[in-house]
Amino acid sequence: MDGRVDLLGLDEAGLKAFLADLGEKPFRSRQLRQWLHQRQVFDLDAMTDLAKSLRAQLAGRVRIGLPEAVFDKESDDGTRKWLVGLDSGNAVETVYIPERERGTLCVSSQVGCALDCGFCSTGKQGFNRNLSAAEIIGQLHFAAQALEREGRGRRITNVVMMGMGEPLANFRNVIAATNLMVDPYAWGLSRRRVTLSTVGLVPALYRLADHSHISLAVSLHAPNDALRDEIVPINRKYPLRELLPACEHYLDNTPHRCIYWEYVMLDGVNDSPEHARQLISLLGNIPSKINLIPFNPFPGTRYNASPRDRIMRFADRLQKAGFITTVRRTRGQDIDGACGQLVGQVINRRNRGKQGAGRATAP
Ligand code: SAH
Repeated sequence: MDGRVDLLGLDEAGLKAFLADLGEKPFRSRQLRQWLHQRQVFDLDAMTDLAKSLRAQLAGRVRIGLPEAVFDKESDDGTRKWLVGLDSGNAVETVYIPERERGTLCVSSQVGCALDCGFCSTGKQGFNRNLSAAEIIGQLHFAAQALEREGRGRRITNVVMMGMGEPLANFRNVIAATNLMVDPYAWGLSRRRVTLSTVGLVPALYRLADHSHISLAVSLHAPNDALRDEIVPINRKYPLRELLPACEHYLDNTPHRCIYWEYVMLDGVNDSPEHARQLISLLGNIPSKINLIPFNPFPGTRYNASPRDRIMRFADRLQKAGFITTVRRTRGQDIDGACGQLVGQVINRRNRGKQGAGRATAP
């Protein structure tokens, strides 16, 4: 780092504070966001409605840059995955999932992950560092430019923070980047179309309600503490009796009407009729949509995918109990682009117990 500010990662509040330090008026923040995020112009000299003196000041103080693609792959089903190169050999993965009505970008928030959920290959990679806000929003720029070059009319209509990493363990940077995603003078996506998926870091969930109103998906994966302790180890720190009230608090304090629960279907582990019954009673009256995720295997995993008919029967039980339940369509499996298959390149992994495990940075 050379001391210059990464302009791309500053949200409205961040830009205003930065401009105030330069003695500039706050409305310049809107112009800059429009140049950077709407027109995707990174050349200060091309920002013709900014005074020359401001452009000269910025030139010495800021950096505007995108990471490079190390490679990209396209799946038979059209899913596209980029390996995005960062510093010193690290890389994260970004996945674009085209559907008839929408195009969803799955964005990473950390190099690796510290949480070590047993069924997720990102967890097996260990943890290196948090992504900066510029590196997170940069994935939208990067993908939008690549899709534009393709000329097939594909666009990013939705974003899910479901790539590598635990977004709430990188709170400040994820908030700045998601603010830009929903900012009408930046990416302008509706907050219903930007979803943060978390393993459930309880204190950070309460803070999220104060700082952001994007959609919330929670990786539940088990209907009781004994099983969740095993599958999602952070549950030992933030058990269900703390997690569920934090989720209800989010609904009570944001405009959202339901929580999206993710539940990966593991053969013989969490997929029995009894598990379905427990799940129904656990979620009780919390407004919920349940997304069952077929397990995507990876080398070295001890889990197997539940058979399709068992997943459908599980879904049926939840539906009969009144829960809107969907089974996630697995996309991009042939290019290792499906849920839990993103590994990127994690150099110099540190002790995963030290970072991210429930320690969310305050905004
Ligand atoms: N750390 C965040 C976001 C990343 S994972 C979270 O845990 O929510 C996005 C989703 O994919 C999570 O629900 C995760 O549990 C699920 N997932 C991880 N590994 C998987 C695998 N091998 N097969 C299917 N889904 C997986």
